[in-house]
Amino acid sequence: MTATDSARVMAGVREVCFELAEQRLIARGVYEMTLRGDVSGVVRPGQFVNVSVPGRYLRRPISVADVNRERGELTLIYKVVGVGTAELAALEPGASIAALTGLGNGFSQSEPLGWGANF
Ligand SMILES: Cc1cc2nc3c(=O)[nH]c(=O)nc-3n(C[C@H](O)[C@H](O)[C@H](O)COP(=O)(O)OP(=O)(O)OC[C@H]3O[C@@H](n4cnc5c(N)ncnc54)[C@H](O)[C@@H]3O)c2cc1C
Repeated sequence: MTATDSARVMAGVREVCFELAEQRLIARGVYEMTLRGDVSGVVRPGQFVNVSVPGRYLRRPISVADVNRERGELTLIYKVVGVGTAELAALEPGASIAALTGLGNGFSQSEPLGWGANF
């Protein structure tokens, strides 16, 4: 494990190889993607993952819409806006998708927001 890898693990960020379990169109140009794999890096609501698009250098950040720890499943909802999301939408169940998990501070549902918000 390299120093960079160690720093990522300490920070809760890890690279996970997911299997695409399900992909469905839920609105015009909007897809719900279910990924199966190690979801332990997702610890708080509001976090995002950085999804690797096969053959593309840059990862695409997508927020975590839902996580099912018992089933080891992560749900992402994304809109096709360019080449990366179009290629994600074309992937079939069974495809391997690498993603960095544990990204973003997220928020705690039990702690007050601290800036007077009341909604
Ligand atoms: C922290 C974070 C969380 C995110 N979570 C989500 C999410 O849950 N769901 C989701 O659908 N997107 C989300 N996004 C946006 C998503 O990352 C981008 O839409 C995606 O990376 C675009 O990749 P692409 O290769 O398809 O588009 P590109 O080829 O990179 O861009 C194509 C064109 O679309 C424009 N564009 C790029 N993104 C958007 C956009 N969001 N809206 C309108 N035009 C855009 C670009 O300026 C460019 O002109 C998130 C972004 C961040 C930073």
